[in-house]
Amino acid sequence: MTSKTRPVAQPTVRPRPLARQHRYFTWLSLSLMSFLALMVLIVYESRWVYPEIQAYFSQTGSLTGQQLSTRARVYLQNAQSELLSDQAEQDALDAAALDIDLAYGLADVHIYRREYTCVEPSLKELDRLVALLVARGIDRIAAAMALFAPIQCLTHIEMDQLDRRGAAINDFSESTRQHRQVLTYSSLLIFVMGLAFWWLHERQLRRADRATQETFEWMQRAMRDPLTGIGNRSALHQDVLAKQHQSLGLILVDIDFFKQYNDAYGHPQGDTLLRQLATLIGETLNDEAQLYRLGGDEFAALLHCPNTDTLKRYCRQLIEGLREADFAHSAHPDKKGVTLSVGGSCFVADEATFPYAYEAADKALYRVKAMGRDGWQVTEDA
Ligand code: GH3
Ligand code: MG
Repeated sequence: MTSKTRPVAQPTVRPRPLARQHRYFTWLSLSLMSFLALMVLIVYESRWVYPEIQAYFSQTGSLTGQQLSTRARVYLQNAQSELLSDQAEQDALDAAALDIDLAYGLADVHIYRREYTCVEPSLKELDRLVALLVARGIDRIAAAMALFAPIQCLTHIEMDQLDRRGAAINDFSESTRQHRQVLTYSSLLIFVMGLAFWWLHERQLRRADRATQETFEWMQRAMRDPLTGIGNRSALHQDVLAKQHQSLGLILVDIDFFKQYNDAYGHPQGDTLLRQLATLIGETLNDEAQLYRLGGDEFAALLHCPNTDTLKRYCRQLIEGLREADFAHSAHPDKKGVTLSVGGSCFVADEATFPYAYEAADKALYRVKAMGRDGWQVTEDA
C-alpha cells in the first residue's frame, strides 16, 4: 500500500475571473477620452490660429489697395505718355485728362488717405491738373512733369503694401509652424500618458488577480487536512450545502485501538497509517465518494446514495477492503490487524437535515464500537 493521498475536496466557492468585457470597456473609454482630448486640443488650436488666418485674408484692403495703386499709377504713366506723344494737342490733352481722372478715382481710397501722407497732396495735384488740362491752361510738358509726384506716391504705396503682405505671410507661416509643433508634442504627450495609464491599469489588474488567487488558495488550504490532503470538517459542511436536495450517504469511520497502534509503532508510523487509510477508503469506495478527515483517527465519506442498501454495500466494501489490505497492528487487543468501526446514514442534503444525519451515523458507529468493533452499522431513516 502506498502513502498516496486523494486530492482535496474542492470548495465550491471559486474566484470569479475578472470580466474581460469590463477590461475592454475600460480600454475603450480610455482611448475615447484620449481621442476627445485630442479633439479639444485641435478645436482650441483652430480657435487660436483662426484670428491670424482671418487677419491674413482680411488684408483685402492691402491686396485690393495694391492693385488700385498699381492701376492708378499705370493710368498716370499712360497720361504722361500721351502728353509726351506726338499726337494732336487737343487729343493728347483730352486723353491725359481722362486717364488722370480715372487714376484719381482709383487712388481716392480712405485707407490711402489715412495711412499715407503723400496721398492728400497728390490727389489735390491731380485735381488741379485735370482742371488745367480741360481749360487748356497748362502745356503738355509741364503737365507731364507735374505727374511725377503722384506717380512716386503711388509707387511708394505699392512697395509698402508689398512689404506688409510679405511680413504678414512670414508671421502666419511662423505661427503655423509653432502651432503644428504644439499639436505634435501634445499628441505625443497624450499617447505617452495613454501608455502610462495602460501600464498602471494592467498592473492593478494583475495585482487584483494575484490577490484573488491567493485568497482562493488560502480558502482551499483552510478546507484541507494537511496530513492526508483530503478535506476537513469545514469542507464536509461546505459540500453538503453545495449538494442541496440530493440523496446522500454519510459514512463515518474510526480506527479501532489507534492509541495502542501509536504506542506500539510510534506517532510517525501512526501518521503514515492515517494517510494509507485515506487512500484505501478512497479506492475502496471507487472514487465515488468525497473524503474528509474530521480529526484524530476519524474519517467521513460523502457519496450519492439513492437508498440504504447502496450505503450498506459501501460499508461492507470498506470493511472487506481493509481486511484485504491487512495492515499489521501488533498491539490490537483482539490479535487482529488494523480494524475499523464504520457507521452510516442516508439523508436528503439540507442545512437542517445534516446534523441529524451526522448524529445517526455517529450512533451507528458507536453501536459497532459497543459490539466489539471491526464492523459496520447503518441507521435507517435518519
Ligand atoms: P477506539 O477503538 O475506541 O477508537 O480507541 P482509540 O485508541 O482509537 O481511541 P480514540 O479514537 O478515541 O483515539 C484517537 C487517538 O488517535 C488519540 C491520539 O493518540 C491519536 N491521534 C489523534 N490525532 C493523531 C494524529 O494526527 N496522528 C497520530 N499518529 N495519532 C493521532
Ligand atoms: Mg479510534
